[in-house]
Amino acid sequence: MSVYENYLEVEKKVQEACKRAGRNREEVTLIAVSKTKPVSMIEELLPHGVVDFGENKVQELTAKYEVLPKDLNWHLIGHLQRNKVKYIIDKACLIHSVDSIRLAETISQEAVKKNVTASILVEVNVAEEESKFGVTSEETEKLVEEISKLPNIEVKGLMTIAPFVENSEENRLVFRNLRNLSVDIAAKKFNNVTMNVLSMGMTGDYEVAIEEGATMVRVGTGIFGERDYSK
Ligand SMILES: *Cc1c(COP(=O)(O)O)cnc(C)c1O
Repeated sequence: MSVYENYLEVEKKVQEACKRAGRNREEVTLIAVSKTKPVSMIEELLPHGVVDFGENKVQELTAKYEVLPKDLNWHLIGHLQRNKVKYIIDKACLIHSVDSIRLAETISQEAVKKNVTASILVEVNVAEEESKFGVTSEETEKLVEEISKLPNIEVKGLMTIAPFVENSEENRLVFRNLRNLSVDIAAKKFNNVTMNVLSMGMTGDYEVAIEEGATMVRVGTGIFGERDYSK
């Protein structure tokens, strides 16, 4: 199957999940996670109007940004080191992975320098897995409140990477908990904070995530095939 055929399969499942949940398809952005994959595979999707792509490494995002049309939306979904913020501050449309006030401060400072407003999500380690980045659910509100005081940075919502499970139903509560957390934080009405974005769901579990309120799903393998890290 071609990349575009894979994409259409995923798109169909996104539509079906929206239907089951009584949601409009427009409420959910399907992000094609192109990390480790060549520009040529991204280019297969461009004639079909696909504009949202996800990368987890700054260097890879900027390299692809340079050679592809400038009207694409680049989502930085991986862990971000503070010394690399300056390279993507005006290239990423949304940074999904903010999990400390120090990182948020750096993003704010670089955004001020470039006279842009950075849009970010706070990454929550809902399942409290040792191996994962992200703040705990308990720490999230405090971090959002601290970030809300910084200039040139807007918190658009929350992101989580759910555990790897055989049966996606096992992650339903993780997604539900993230949604509930975002509703609680939205009610606080912090400055520069909206909780309209819920970035959750990957190849193995995006349908359940949509049923539980995801507004962005990040699908890599399902669109581009397995990744090969050996090269
Ligand atoms: C790689 C990655 C994805 C996509 O994973 P797949 O299982 O291949 O769909 C989604 N989110 C993040 C943060 C990732 O690093």
